[in-house]
Amino acid sequence: MNERRMHYRTCPLCEATCGLAVAVEADRVLSVRGDADDPFSQGFLCPKGATLGDLHHDPDRLRVPRVRRAGRLVEASWDEAFEAIEAGLMPLLKRHGRDSLALLLGNPITHHLAPAFYVGPLVRACATRNLYSASTVDQMPQHVVSGLLWGDPNVFPIPDVDRTDHLLMLGANPMASNGSLITAPDFPGRLREMPKRGARLVVVDPRRTETAERADEHLFIRPGTDVFWLAALVETLFSESLVELGRLKPHVDGVEEIRALVAPFTPERVADLCGIDAETTRRQARDLAGAAAAAVYGRIGNHTVEFGTATAWMAALLNLLTGNFDRPGGVMTSSPIASKIDDGEPGGRGYRVGRWKSRVQGHPEVNGEFPAASLADEMETPGEGQVRAAISVATNPVRSYPNSERLDRAFAALDFYVAFDIYVNETTRHADVILPAPSALEEESYELTFMGNAIRSFGKYDAPVFRNEGPSEADIFARLIGVLQGAGAGSSPDDVHTALLEQSVERLSNEEGLDRETILQALAGMAPVQQLLDLKLRSGWQGDLFGGRPGGVSLEKLVDHPHGVDLGPMVERFPNRLRTESGRFELASPWLVQDWARVRARLDLPVRGDGLRLIGRRHLRSNNSWMHNLAPLVSGRARCTLMMHPSDAEARGVEEGERVEVRSRVGVLEVEVERSDALMPGVVCLPHGWGHGVEGAELSVASSHAGVGSNVLTDDGVIDPASGNAVLNGIPVEVSALR
Ligand code: SF4
Repeated sequence: MNERRMHYRTCPLCEATCGLAVAVEADRVLSVRGDADDPFSQGFLCPKGATLGDLHHDPDRLRVPRVRRAGRLVEASWDEAFEAIEAGLMPLLKRHGRDSLALLLGNPITHHLAPAFYVGPLVRACATRNLYSASTVDQMPQHVVSGLLWGDPNVFPIPDVDRTDHLLMLGANPMASNGSLITAPDFPGRLREMPKRGARLVVVDPRRTETAERADEHLFIRPGTDVFWLAALVETLFSESLVELGRLKPHVDGVEEIRALVAPFTPERVADLCGIDAETTRRQARDLAGAAAAAVYGRIGNHTVEFGTATAWMAALLNLLTGNFDRPGGVMTSSPIASKIDDGEPGGRGYRVGRWKSRVQGHPEVNGEFPAASLADEMETPGEGQVRAAISVATNPVRSYPNSERLDRAFAALDFYVAFDIYVNETTRHADVILPAPSALEEESYELTFMGNAIRSFGKYDAPVFRNEGPSEADIFARLIGVLQGAGAGSSPDDVHTALLEQSVERLSNEEGLDRETILQALAGMAPVQQLLDLKLRSGWQGDLFGGRPGGVSLEKLVDHPHGVDLGPMVERFPNRLRTESGRFELASPWLVQDWARVRARLDLPVRGDGLRLIGRRHLRSNNSWMHNLAPLVSGRARCTLMMHPSDAEARGVEEGERVEVRSRVGVLEVEVERSDALMPGVVCLPHGWGHGVEGAELSVASSHAGVGSNVLTDDGVIDPASGNAVLNGIPVEVSALR
C-alpha cells in the first residue's frame, strides 16, 4: 500500500518564496498547503501556490523532447533531440558567426537551482552578443541605478516593510503580486500590520489598485509621469531644507549637482503634468522627511516607462537624501546566507554600461544584454550578424515582449530555434527542437536568486518530491553546453559538471586559502547541483568554511531543517558594501545626468491631455503566461478585460461588457470593456500574458480562456534608452466601439 508522505518545499511561482507543505501519495500530489512551520512565510499561501500539483500533473506539460520533422513537432528521444540541435545549429553558427544566435532567458530560471549555476556557462558557450532576458522587459532600470549609485547592479534597495513607519509606494500592487524586487512572503499580511504600529502607507498609481484600497492615502498620477513627481519631492527636500543624509553623509558625492538638476521641477511646475496638486506634493515630501523611518518603493509601473531609469534614480535619491538608505525601517539590502559578503573597505570596480552596441539600432549593452524590444530588429534586418537562430530558456517572448505580432513573424522566419521549456506555447510552437525541463517537484531547490532580495536572511533546501525519469535540469544544460562547445551531441554531461565544479573549487581555494582536496573530498558523492550549492553555502558569510568556522551553515545543516533556517532581518551593510570606483555613493553619475536631459526637455513641452494611455495590471491568480493553463487559476469570470473610466466609456458610447477595438501605433485588438472608476479618466488598463489559442500552441486550458495579448499594442520602437528597458505602460491608444 502506498503511504502518504509530506514534503516541505518552496513555491517557485513568484518572488515571495512561500514555504509549502506538499502531501503526496505514490506519484500523485494530494494537496499543497502553506507550511505553518516555515519561519519566513509562516503558513501563508496564495491561490497560485496551491496549484503546484496541477502544474506537475498537467497533461500539456512536456515530458519528452520534441523535434520538428516534416513541419510537425513530434516526440523524440533525448539523443535524437541533441543530434538535431547539433545538425541544425552548429553549421549555421559556423557559416554566419556566433552573433547570428540569440539567447533568450526567462524569469522562471531565477526560481530553479540548476540555472543558477549553468546559465553562466551557457551564455559563455553561446559566445554571442545577442543576449536578451526578462530584465529589459521590466527591471533593468533598477540594475542600472544600483550599479551606478553604489556599484553593484544586483544589490537592490529593499523596503523594510516590517519596520518602516512610512511606505511610499509607486507602480506596485503587492496585494496582487506579493511584491517584486523584494522577497517578503505574505506581503499583504505585512501591510495589514502597518497601521497596528502607527505606520502609514501611501500609494501613487493611475489605478486604485487592491493595495491602494488598503492605503492610508492613494494619489492618482498620470501614467509615465512618476519621474516628474518624484523629482518634485526631491526639489521640495532641497527648497524646504529637509535634506538629511544621516549616518552615510561622509560617503556621499553629488548632492549639489542633484540640487541643480531638480531645481526646475517644483511641485507647482509638475502639478498639471502629473495630475497631483502642489500642496499635496509638498505635504508628501514633508511626511517622508519627517517620518522616523521611511521607504520609497517603486516597481513595474515605475520601471516600464520611457523614463524608467530616471524614475528609479529619483526613488533612490529620496531614500538617500532623507537618511533612509541602509537604515532599519527604510530601504536596506539583503544578506543572503549563500553569499560571500565582503565587509572590507568601500570601493571596487564600479559599473559600466555601453561596452558594446547592438548592430541595428546601436543600443548600448546593459548588464551584457540588449533590449528585448530590439530583438525583432536584429532578427529581421539583413546583413552580417543578423540573428538567424535562437535558444530560449523558460520564456515566451511572443507574449511578453513588446510588439508581439511582429516578434511572432520574426520567430517563424528563424533558420533554427531551440527552446528549453515545459510547454508548446505561443513562442515555442516555432521551435525546431524543444527540450522539456523536469517538473519543479522533480528537482531540488534553493532560492538562490531571491534570497538576494529577501527582507530576512533565510535559507531552505528542498529535496526532490518525485523521481525524475528523464535527465536532470543540470544534465540538460550540460549537454546543450557540450554541443555549443563543439564536443558533440554524444558528449557526456559529466565533462561539463566536472569542469564547472573544478573551476568553482579552484576559485574558493585561492580566495580562502582552503585546501582543494579537502573541499573535493567533502563534496564527493553528491549530485552536481548539490555540490555547487554546498560550496556556496559553506563559503558564504554564514558558512562553515569546510570546518574553518564550526557551527556554520552547510547543505547538511539545511537538510536537517526542512522548514528553513532564519538568521534575522536585514542589517546595515554600508558604507562597506559600496563597490563604486570612488568607494562613495555617486549620486550624479554622468550616465544618469546625461539621460536627465530627456526628462528636462519633456518638462518644457505642453501637458498632453489628449487621448487615452494604456497601463497593465496584475491579478492574484496570474503571473506568467503559462499559469493560464492551470484550470483553478483561470476559472470564473473572464479577467482579460479592458478597464475604462465610465466618463471615457460614455464619451465613446461604450457600454459595460461591450467589445471595443483598441488601436496603438503598432497593433490593434478587440476586447471586452469593464467600466471602473478605480481608474483615473484618460487611462485604460489591460492585464498581460493573455492571447492564447493560436495555431500550433498546445495549451488546452489556456486556449479556452484565450483573452488578448496586451503586447500586441506595446511599441518596440520606444524604450528607456538609459537601461534598454521596454515601455509597457503609458502607451497611447485609441478605443472605439465595434458597431
Ligand atoms: S505568493 Fe508567490 S510564492 Fe507565495 S504561494 Fe503565491 S505564488 Fe507562491
